[in-house]
Amino acid sequence: MRGLMMDVPLNVSALLDFAAKYHADTEIVSKTVEGPLHRYGYADAAARARRLANALVRLGLAPGDVVGTVAWNGYRHVELYYAISGSGMICHTINPRLFAEQIVYIINHAQDRWLFVDLTFVPLLETLADKLPGVKGFVVMTDAAHMPRTTLPNALCYETLVEAERDAFVWPVLDENTASSLCYSSGTTGNPRGVLYSHRSTVLHSYAVSLIDVFGLSAREAVLPVVPMFHVNAWGLPYAAPLTGAKLVMPGPNLDGASLQALIYDEGVTFSAGVPTVWMGVLNHLAQSGKSLGRLERVVIGGSACPPSMIETLRDRYGVKVVHAWGMTEISPLGTANHPKRKQVDLPPAERDALAARQGRPVFGVDMKIVDGAGNELPWDGTAFGALKVRGPWVCGRYFNSDVVPSHQEAGWFETGDVATIDADGNIQIVDRVKDVIKSGGEWISSIELENIAIAHPAVREAAVIARPDAKWGERPRLIVALEKGEAVTAADLRAFYQGKVASWCVPDDVVVVDDLPHTATGKLLKSELRRLYGSA
Ligand code: ADP
Repeated sequence: MRGLMMDVPLNVSALLDFAAKYHADTEIVSKTVEGPLHRYGYADAAARARRLANALVRLGLAPGDVVGTVAWNGYRHVELYYAISGSGMICHTINPRLFAEQIVYIINHAQDRWLFVDLTFVPLLETLADKLPGVKGFVVMTDAAHMPRTTLPNALCYETLVEAERDAFVWPVLDENTASSLCYSSGTTGNPRGVLYSHRSTVLHSYAVSLIDVFGLSAREAVLPVVPMFHVNAWGLPYAAPLTGAKLVMPGPNLDGASLQALIYDEGVTFSAGVPTVWMGVLNHLAQSGKSLGRLERVVIGGSACPPSMIETLRDRYGVKVVHAWGMTEISPLGTANHPKRKQVDLPPAERDALAARQGRPVFGVDMKIVDGAGNELPWDGTAFGALKVRGPWVCGRYFNSDVVPSHQEAGWFETGDVATIDADGNIQIVDRVKDVIKSGGEWISSIELENIAIAHPAVREAAVIARPDAKWGERPRLIVALEKGEAVTAADLRAFYQGKVASWCVPDDVVVVDDLPHTATGKLLKSELRRLYGSA
């Protein structure tokens, strides 16, 4: 027997409609590429998204078409998220920090029809435009006064386009499994792969991340997504903020420590999210300037392992709680978040700290397991480690326009490429990415664990551990560090720092000191480049 409840499909447009109706004057504040802060309420945002939807139709776009964005976090990008997806088109967010060839590949593979581009990225797109035969035109996301001279073919001005339209537009009621947005994972091996989110997966993910034991969003929060809107939909925050009526604060192109601190302080930001590298920049600025983080209460840190020393500094010096989370492009991105259970609340501080450094447990909707090389499930004892697999309504079932790949070989499961342990409470600890783990004498050494120890040394600004070939052991760990200004350490100092923290055979054999470590387009350590430079015997 079927239930008798209303059959209302979960559509992304409803999120903004809801915020416009019930949180009309709650602000979206954006640092613009042009310079000043822009602020308006959800009702204004929704009206402008409807105008933009009319403009998309006038450009000749139809449901199912893919529309690309190359843009920072800002109000026009929010309008695009809703106008494109709300109209039944697909909002393809493009990471401008990727290599030019990857950007060209992604745009052509996705068959983007039009591209919406922030001023910052106009020069980049000008160099690529003749390699993008399927793109009919470009909309520069600015007003007439700032419209640049450009060689982009069919270049239009965003504000001129939007101002010409009426704000009456009725969002179509879409089957909730309709595609809503598209994001390519960086593709550290091979070509980038497209993850095609649906309206249903996006709305369910928005509910899930808003829960107290995940991001804990509400109408009393001011949310600053530092994680870019071109990187897994800014971890879902442009959807979850309207769902909860939270104020949204967008940093635009200014992601340095000083700019972020100022925005956090001035706008009363209570919640933020980003990768560890970003918070490293903020902490450096705070240490130098003596400034504070104002009303900031919580930050979600993920994307790569958050060093325990960062969790402690944010808590002890600035009163900010770190929620360590794990996810990936293929999981929308949220898989797990770290909050204690009731029975853990009164644990001694050292034990609680050890728990807080893990990546946490799944939110309802995500199921996981770890398996050995033969695919057998491993025990949840916090020690056994294996390939981490996940499934759920916001997990990628198949890549966009691509054959079945190894990660989707087991029906109903997605293999993440991460190696993890799971404890009896369901907390995961990411040991490493499969390709980064160091295989020494039949044992596996976690590069993450060794990096976390090095970073806690006062002289070390950033640390990476990679494998180098070894005749006897197969591979051995090599530590590469960038030091704090004016600091000096010897390899022996650093090796001594590991004593008592890991088994002696895990201690890196040698140490390389460099000025700076290379990063990926999403702010993670670029291990492939480090292996190329320092990976030989
Ligand atoms: P990319 O880095 O390739 O752009 P993602 O952002 O999807 O793609 O990266 C997902 C990967 O990042 C995960 O598979 C995992 O290896 C790593 N990761 C994410 N969060 C964490 C975390 N909290 N701790 C350790 N690794 C993490």
